[in-house]
Amino acid sequence: MSKKTLSKADLKAKICQQVDRQRGELVELSLRIHANPELGFEEVKAIGWLTDYLGNNGFVVEVGIGGFATAFKAFYGEGGPYVALLAEYDALPGVGHACGHNVIAAAAVGAGVASRVVVDNCGGTVIVFGTPAEELHGGKVGLLRAGVFEGVDVALMVHPGVRNRATGEALACVNLDIEFFGKAAHAAAYPDQGVNALEAMILAFNAINSLRQHIKEKARIHGIITHGGHAANVVPAYTAAKLLVRAPDNAYLEELKRRVLGCLEGAALATGARLACRWGDVLYEPLKSNRTLAKIFANNLEVLGRKVEPLDAPNSLGSTDMGNVSQVVPAIHPTIAIASPGTLLHSDEFARAAASETASEGVLDAAKALAMTVVDLMSEPRILAKVKAEFAGLIGRG
Ligand SMILES: [Zn+2]
Ligand SMILES: [Zn+2]
Repeated sequence: MSKKTLSKADLKAKICQQVDRQRGELVELSLRIHANPELGFEEVKAIGWLTDYLGNNGFVVEVGIGGFATAFKAFYGEGGPYVALLAEYDALPGVGHACGHNVIAAAAVGAGVASRVVVDNCGGTVIVFGTPAEELHGGKVGLLRAGVFEGVDVALMVHPGVRNRATGEALACVNLDIEFFGKAAHAAAYPDQGVNALEAMILAFNAINSLRQHIKEKARIHGIITHGGHAANVVPAYTAAKLLVRAPDNAYLEELKRRVLGCLEGAALATGARLACRWGDVLYEPLKSNRTLAKIFANNLEVLGRKVEPLDAPNSLGSTDMGNVSQVVPAIHPTIAIASPGTLLHSDEFARAAASETASEGVLDAAKALAMTVVDLMSEPRILAKVKAEFAGLIGRG
């Protein structure tokens, strides 16, 4: 294996040729995962197909990392730098691949296999991590706790969307399970003897609605009532709800958590129902996009003929467990356009778009731009040094 025989331009050209040669397989992978939606932690078929592809292309594959059966690590190369490509592949209940994680998965493995030429020429290791259950359980949070990203220098992924963006914001987010316990009674004969758990819940939601007028613009509080009572002629003795609380940073999230709790306690006091609530043990952290990395990625995507939004253009706000990764490893979470602007993420329409010809083009361009970014990182040590200096706060965020 001869090192540094190819120029950066040669390496990028080879990467694009390699992805184009794999076009059929990558599109097929994306469509097969799309046609077989699996919920978080049940993505058995998806990881089988993805790890087969990586294994058949010279990667060393380890399935079931960090204590998660549907997580995997596949690597090619030896020694540093270690560049990670993150795949997601979970679907949503009811709407299938309405977040297009099939595109993320195919792009990540395509980029991994295309990056072999960089490793052969420059050294280093490219790792594809299979990260399960992004949507409902924050799989990456568990993988971080298990230490699987330790030693990783940079973490890259691409999410499908309606615009080409190199970076974006994502909110800190935590979930809350709420229960009110009252006392059942005949709703007409003995209303004075009952304690109404449904009134407590309605009051709690109304208090939260009042609170919402006076919170910071980017914060979000939203939820559903999952149990509202059994019969109209029985005073509801039990109600349950699920809430999500989101904020632009962890400190404001903590403040909102206190204020939401106040709304619930007030409702309990007013109705006499007993409150029980539990915050989720997975907290999605805000996304810390590495701007040095984002600029490199944007440049690579533009070379492929895509128009990329300015770095600070406003974006719609969600949350992602990539936020947690981005707090400990320099990372980006860009989006690639696979649907027309106005198509809503998590909708049937987006699910259809995720299996379209446009999505297939997105898989290929995302794989190319990711692998071209691996070229920049591995062939020029000063670029990786700059990415790390920005992460460490040693230089401004450009
Ligand atoms: Zn989603
Ligand atoms: Zn998603």
